[in-house]
Amino acid sequence: MSLVFEPQVSLKAFNTFGVDVRAQVFAQAHSDADVREALAYCAQQQLPLLVIGGGSNLLLTADIPALVLRMATQGIRILSDDGVQVIVEAEAGEAWHPFVLWTLAQGLSGLENLSLIPGTVGAAPMQNIGAYGVEIKDVFAGLTALDRESGELRDFDLHACRFGYRDSLFKQQPGRWLILRVRFALSRVEHLHLGYGPVSQRLAQLGIAQPNASDVSQAICSIRSEKLPDPAVLGNAGSFFKNPLVPAALVAELKVDYPDLVAYPQADGQMKLAAGWLIERAGWKGFREADAGVHRLQALVLVNYGGATGLQLLNLAQRIQQDIAQRFKVQLEMEPNRY
Ligand code: FAD
Ligand code: NAP
Repeated sequence: MSLVFEPQVSLKAFNTFGVDVRAQVFAQAHSDADVREALAYCAQQQLPLLVIGGGSNLLLTADIPALVLRMATQGIRILSDDGVQVIVEAEAGEAWHPFVLWTLAQGLSGLENLSLIPGTVGAAPMQNIGAYGVEIKDVFAGLTALDRESGELRDFDLHACRFGYRDSLFKQQPGRWLILRVRFALSRVEHLHLGYGPVSQRLAQLGIAQPNASDVSQAICSIRSEKLPDPAVLGNAGSFFKNPLVPAALVAELKVDYPDLVAYPQADGQMKLAAGWLIERAGWKGFREADAGVHRLQALVLVNYGGATGLQLLNLAQRIQQDIAQRFKVQLEMEPNRY
């Protein structure tokens, strides 16, 4: 089946902020052949290409003068199983959370802390998705990407991906690599990560003294469902700012005025500040102007009450950045990819 190219398509349903901009041309890829057809179309039409997955980490500020290609490839397979370690491969268009549930149903642990993150498998390496003390780099076994410059396929190992805190080579070289499929090293022996307070608290509330990976997944799903707005109800892209990494000396200085400042020591000697704490302390939690706002329960999440434009959301984000820089001498970095 060849690709269907649709002109002037609204992207409102294809980004979780629910921002209403148009793609000059829109198509959905169901196979590697579709991806190659899209690249050929762009070359022939001299049109840029923007690849998207679930649209849950996008801020679209204007109509997109490009072919917007949504990855919809499907397929999950076990590549090897030595009785303990199992290598699983999933196609880029697989939805992330159902994939996590599939791994748990096979008795495989490793992805449970990353439950209920929206989006697709193919986008997960872009910012090395992370939650509750686990990042995909911790269970990463490789990926296959198409080099859009040369048209060749390339396999990446852990080192080659240059994963960092919400960062990767793919984010640093925007538009070059089209991720086709990702491999994960999962385990039949559980090594649970319960270091984030809310997870062990929720398990205790549920009366689970010896949790398994599925228990952890369920606890995290229940915490997230209470705390984070559901994009189907209230438009958002999750955390809008990364948690800033700052020198320990700045933390000591800030603690004089803010003794309850939340800061976590990092292996390299820096400190990680909770951006949500800074924004809440600056008084932005629950702020709303027209249809752009800051979520009333989680100050790190910007929300679209319905009719906000990408530029209104961007403007709000910039005002928050300026305020935080002035108050705390900390520069917040936006997390969503802006187009
Ligand atoms: P998109 O938003 O569609 O795309 C993101 C970027 O990746 C874009 O630059 C796009 O061009 C590129 N891209 C997409 N697919 C491909 C591909 N196959 N090849 C190459 N480039 C590609 N993130 C976390 O890290 N941790 C969280 O806990 C978390 N929680 C969230 C909670 C909510 C409620 C929401 C709305 C978002 C959350 N996010 C979180 C952010 C987001 O869900 C993740 O970053 C997710 O991986 C984005 O996937 P996506 O398919 O929606 O990507
Ligand atoms: P939280 O539990 O309120 O904690 C606030 C921040 O403190 C988190 O961002 C987290 O940093 C940090 N933190 C908490 N406990 C920590 C510990 N034991 N060690 C080191 N750092 C710690 O956070 P939340 O907003 O409800 O989110 C829970 C988890 O889901 C976090 O890991 C968060 O990153 C993730 N999440 C991400 C997004 C997104 O869009 N990127 C959206 C929602 C939730 P880290 O963020 O570095 O983990």
